[in-house]
Amino acid sequence: MGILDGKRILVAGVTMDKSIGFAAARFAQEQGAEVLISNFGRALGITRRIAKRLPKEAPVLELDVTDEDHLAGLEAAVREHVDGLDGVVHSIAYGNPETLLGGKFLEGPWDDVAQAVQVSAYSLRSLAVACRPLMGEGSSIVGLTFDATVAWPAYDWMGVAKAALENTSRYLARDLGPDGIRCNLVSAGPLKTLAAKAIPGFEDLESMWSTRAPLGWDETDADPTARAICALLSDLFPATTGEIVHVDGGFHAMGA
Ligand code: NAP
Repeated sequence: MGILDGKRILVAGVTMDKSIGFAAARFAQEQGAEVLISNFGRALGITRRIAKRLPKEAPVLELDVTDEDHLAGLEAAVREHVDGLDGVVHSIAYGNPETLLGGKFLEGPWDDVAQAVQVSAYSLRSLAVACRPLMGEGSSIVGLTFDATVAWPAYDWMGVAKAALENTSRYLARDLGPDGIRCNLVSAGPLKTLAAKAIPGFEDLESMWSTRAPLGWDETDADPTARAICALLSDLFPATTGEIVHVDGGFHAMGA
């Protein structure tokens, strides 16, 4: 018996087997879910190869969250494989590392900031709205943040995009709650994924975690994050929405 037995789940944002989305897809399958995954553009071929490394090969959908045609076609694309969705994982972010990250806060140009906010925050709303006709009472949306209540070294405009994501999640919780749809985020500690490696100076954050997280932190292990995502997708949190669950070894609770 798995906590996701019989659930149909879309995980958006899987590129490599290091992706948090991949770990979530794997654990969801291990817990009994029928999983679809998505990615966009040139990396789609990589995602199709990576999909074969899951316990059960997952169908791969093409979804650029900034493409209105992709969003409009998502319901039909999902229905080719399953007749609805019980869960959606938003594991998507992008900010130009050359102009927005690694200490470039005071220089970041608006066009790039706008792209970062659209891909990393507004897209949670876009994905939720596109999937809404597929979801019913008891469904769950889960996104991923990096604690946006404080300023971090290197994270710069991605931190601002994450602050927007965190409040987008609360407004989705407000507007989808009456349909019985929950929306929550997992705030993960630093993990060595493609997105993280693209951030100049991200290793400084990783080294802070190794000394301050009371439970310790393994930045190569996305499994604890995947487990929290799947717990929030499951029926174990029926009255929880608009929440941010920290999976960071306890770092966020320490003052120093
Ligand atoms: P990742 O493997 O690079 O995943 C990010 C995904 O977003 C990639 O699959 C990427 O596709 C996709 N993406 C970018 N632009 C997109 C668009 N326009 N439409 C659709 N998909 C798009 O990195 P990750 O670390 O697992 O990131 C997953 C989530 O976790 C992100 O929200 C990230 O901010 C969050 N998070 C990460 C950490 C960490 O330390 N790694 C910590 C806390 C939270 P391409 O690869 O093809 O560009």
